[in-house]
Amino acid sequence: MITVYNTMTRQKEELKVKNNKIKLFVCGPTVYDYSHIGHARTYISFDVIVRYLKHEGYSVFYLQNITDIDDKIINRAKENGEDPLELSHRFEKEYMDDMEKLNVTNVNFYARATEHMDEIISQIKKLVNKGYAYDTPTGVYFDVSKFEDFGKLSNRNLDDLQNTRIEVDTTKDDPKDFALWKKQDSQPYWDSPWGKGRPGWHIEDTAITESYFGPQYNIHGGGLDLIFPHHDAEIAQMEAASSKEPLVEYWMHTGFLNVKGEKMSKSLGNFITIKQLLENYEPDVYRFFVLSTHYRSPIDFSDDILKQAENSLERIQNTTGKLIEKLSSDNLVQESNDEITNQLEVFRNEFFDAMDNDFNTPIALSSLFNFTHTLNKELSEDNLSKDDLENIIDTLREVESILGLSLFKQDDTSSDEVLDIIIDVRSQLRSNKQWDLADKIRDDLSALDINIEDK
Ligand code: AMP
Repeated sequence: MITVYNTMTRQKEELKVKNNKIKLFVCGPTVYDYSHIGHARTYISFDVIVRYLKHEGYSVFYLQNITDIDDKIINRAKENGEDPLELSHRFEKEYMDDMEKLNVTNVNFYARATEHMDEIISQIKKLVNKGYAYDTPTGVYFDVSKFEDFGKLSNRNLDDLQNTRIEVDTTKDDPKDFALWKKQDSQPYWDSPWGKGRPGWHIEDTAITESYFGPQYNIHGGGLDLIFPHHDAEIAQMEAASSKEPLVEYWMHTGFLNVKGEKMSKSLGNFITIKQLLENYEPDVYRFFVLSTHYRSPIDFSDDILKQAENSLERIQNTTGKLIEKLSSDNLVQESNDEITNQLEVFRNEFFDAMDNDFNTPIALSSLFNFTHTLNKELSEDNLSKDDLENIIDTLREVESILGLSLFKQDDTSSDEVLDIIIDVRSQLRSNKQWDLADKIRDDLSALDINIEDK
C-alpha cells in the first residue's frame, strides 16, 4: 500500500485510484531563462515518484505544461531585442536538454500554453457565462468573491491575495480578482471574444488539464510556492467552470532548494543553473543529492553536501563494481549464503517500505547504504555464490531503475570499441583519398571533444 501526503487534507492518505490508472499533472517551467537546480529538485522528485508508481504496477500519464507566454518572457525579450516566442522556445529547448541530462524521462506530454489558446478561450467563456468572470477595458477577471471556498488548499483567506503577484488595475471590481485574459494590441497577441490579448498565468493549466484529463483527475504536483495563489486559483477556475469537485484527488508539493536559508530563485539572484552544475558534477551526483532528502523537506544547498553525495555514490559504485568483478571470478562458493539471503530480504523490505511511505527516498537510500556495508564484508570474506551475486545484482538493478541513477559504474569498453571501428574506417577512407568524408568524421568527433591527430 502506498501512502501519499495530500496538501489538501494535510495528512498521509492511502493512494486509491480506479483501475490503477493515474493522471498526473505537474506545473512546468516559465521558459525565459536557463533552469536552475531548484527547478531540477522539483522535477527529479516527481520523476522518481512516477518511476516508483510505475514499478508498483500503476499506469501513469504524466502531463506538464510549458509557460511559453508570460510577463517575464515578454520583459526579457524586450531587454534582449528578441521575439518573445523565439526566446521562450529557445529556453524550452534548453530545459528539455537539461532534463534529458538529469535523466528526467517520464513526462508523457509537454503542453505549450500558446498551443492551447482555443481551450483557454473556451474555458474563460464558460466562466464569463456562469457569472464567475467579467470583462473590463484591460482584461477579463475572475471574481474571487463568487467562489466561496477560495483558498481551501492553502487555508489562506482572500485578504492574503492582495499581497501576492496579482496585477494592480483600477478597472477591476476588487483588487483581489485575478486576470484570466490580458488585453494587449502589441505582438504577441491572440484574438478572443474580448479582443486581442493573451492568457493570465493560472488559466493555461486548467485549460490544458481539462483538454487531456477532463475536469477532474488524480494527482497535481508542483513546488511549495505554487500552492497559493496559483493552485488555489486553479481550483476556483476549474470547479467553477465544471461545477464538479474536487478538481484533484491528491495535491503533492515539493520543498524548496534553499541557499543559506533562502529559496533559490532567479529573482534573488542566488541560483546555479543546471548547466553550471553539470560542468563540475555528474548528473547522478545531483540526483543522489536530491534524493538524500525527503521531497517535501527543504534542502540547504552547499558544495560540501554535494561532495558528500559524490563520495557516497562512489562508495556504492565501488561495491557494485566488486560484485560484478566477483561474478566473473573462478573462486565462488557453491552453497548459497543464508545470511546474505536474509540481509537481501531485509534490504528489500526496508527499501520498498520507505518508498511506500510517501516516497521516503532518504530512508530508502540509507537502507541501501547499510546493505552495501554488509556486501563489502561478505565480499572480503569470499562468502558469496553465483546465485547470491546474481540475486543481489538483480535487486540493485531494480533499485537503480526506480531511482533513475547509476548504482553501477558505466562501462566505457563498448564505446571505446566503437571509436576504434570509426578510426579504422576513417584510415581506410584516407588511404582511398576520400578526404571529404575523412575530414567530416574528424570534425564531427572533434565537436564531441575527441581529437584525432594524423601523423
Ligand atoms: P517556475 O519556472 O518558476 O514556475 O518554476 C517551475 C517549478 O520549479 C515550480 O514547480 C516551482 O515551484 C519549482 N521551483 C522553483 N524554484 C524552486 C526551488 N528553489 N526549489 C524547489 N523547487 C523550485
